[in-house]
Amino acid sequence: MRPDILWFRDDLRLTDNPVLDAAAAASSLLCVYVLEERLLAPLAPGMSERRIGPARLHFLWQSLCELRGELLKRGSDLLVRVGDPAAVLTDLASESEARRLWVQCPVASDEASDIARLEQRLQADTYIRTGENVTLFKASALPFPLSELPETYSAFRRQVEKHCAFEDLVSSPITLPPWPEKMVRGMPPLEKVCPRATVWRPDPRGQFCFEGGEAAGMARLNAYLWDKEGGSHYKQTRNGLLGADFSTRLSAWLARGCLSPRQVQAQVRRWEAEYGVSESSYWIVFELLWREYFHWAARQEGAGLFAERNLPTPGGAFHAWRRGETGLPFVDAAMIELATTGWISNRARQNVASFLVKDLGEDWRLGAAWFEHCLIDYDVASNWGNWRYVAGVGRDPRNRYFNVLKQARQYDEEGRYVAHWLPALASLPPGAVRHHPWHGEPARFSPPLVMPDAWQPYLIDAD
Ligand SMILES: Cc1cc2nc3c(=O)[nH]c(=O)nc-3n(C[C@H](O)[C@H](O)[C@H](O)COP(=O)(O)OP(=O)(O)OC[C@H]3O[C@@H](n4cnc5c(N)ncnc54)[C@H](O)[C@@H]3O)c2cc1C
Repeated sequence: MRPDILWFRDDLRLTDNPVLDAAAAASSLLCVYVLEERLLAPLAPGMSERRIGPARLHFLWQSLCELRGELLKRGSDLLVRVGDPAAVLTDLASESEARRLWVQCPVASDEASDIARLEQRLQADTYIRTGENVTLFKASALPFPLSELPETYSAFRRQVEKHCAFEDLVSSPITLPPWPEKMVRGMPPLEKVCPRATVWRPDPRGQFCFEGGEAAGMARLNAYLWDKEGGSHYKQTRNGLLGADFSTRLSAWLARGCLSPRQVQAQVRRWEAEYGVSESSYWIVFELLWREYFHWAARQEGAGLFAERNLPTPGGAFHAWRRGETGLPFVDAAMIELATTGWISNRARQNVASFLVKDLGEDWRLGAAWFEHCLIDYDVASNWGNWRYVAGVGRDPRNRYFNVLKQARQYDEEGRYVAHWLPALASLPPGAVRHHPWHGEPARFSPPLVMPDAWQPYLIDAD
């Protein structure tokens, strides 16, 4: 009997995985993950950093190891390769004489192009089957054709809240079809792919450690909702900057598909069944709908999501920004946190993005590329979609200027966040002076790279 191939992408889980569920009916099954070699290329001209940085690779390998263990328990296994997915899968399909190849629907244009190229190369009697594994809703359940996706998030949310029903989760399989005879299995050591990723650890000042895999993702989801009582306080704390529990921190598991958004929604519903619907429980799903919106937008926009792919060679202002050396503490603290932990809050992301694009006048795509390198939770649709949104290009274009100094004083009133990441500021009294130290202590602190007029009203010490 000819085997099937299951190509895992950002759906590294057994539970609520409709593609795996469908593939599990095969007589024998080869499970594959391909780390796209294009992710190992430099992120921009003149830079040595790769598109995928050590923090995300570390999390990814943890997730793959766990997935492999779960597949082995069920009589299957995992083969991990590094290369061009279309070439790797063509070779595997031909060697195994595969009948069908199962894969999630592509999220963005690179993933779609991999599948299109694969389709052209496969033998005529090997078929590709795609399934919806990364979104809350299926395309067929949306109350509009994709070509008529609403221009704004609010219009999208109103329609899906009204018309899209919650579907039951798919259980994880108890057993899986056997591995095809004579086919190789196993993973390359992470050391071979990126030695830095094997030893990567988050800076403990981040106060949180993301551990890859389905079990850790589900543990965080349950701990956040029940033990940390996130279902009761998320709405009030979500703009926080310091600590482990001001937001769910589920983004990393969602991005690699260790958790499905439907699993998150289902647990929120369980919590609500116990404690009642709260403003906070509603708001967690509200935020998941942002992810949903960016995913459908990415599918609709294709390569347009990235604007032009050829990035410019970054200049001095960009490098100062990415290194946390702009002189503006709120931005520098966040950029240091990002580089050393692989994660920053949504509030920090919005501010550093706006600062790069609107105050420094740099190309937004360089910022998106730096985030792609650093973020553990990098998700192509959410990252490029949010960058476009902040930059005010693409869908719903508007001037979304964040007055970073105003935001710093509003969301970090005492300057605890900036002093946490920039210890030199801890010697200054808590309060506004920590956000513009060049103003209060010009002998010790240099002025920032830029000083937009919009900051003037916030340079006055309120304390
Ligand atoms: C410039 C910029 C780049 C970003 N890049 C990414 C990215 O690569 N990957 C990513 O997952 N998120 C990205 N975000 C969105 C958001 O910042 C993160 O999802 C969120 O901070 C993750 O923390 P959390 O899981 O604690 O979120 P919570 O506040 O707990 O929200 C719950 C979930 O809702 C989703 N969500 C929340 N806000 C957004 C949003 N604005 N857009 C899309 N989904 C959202 C996420 O899946 C998140 O895990 C970006 C935002 C900005 C402004």
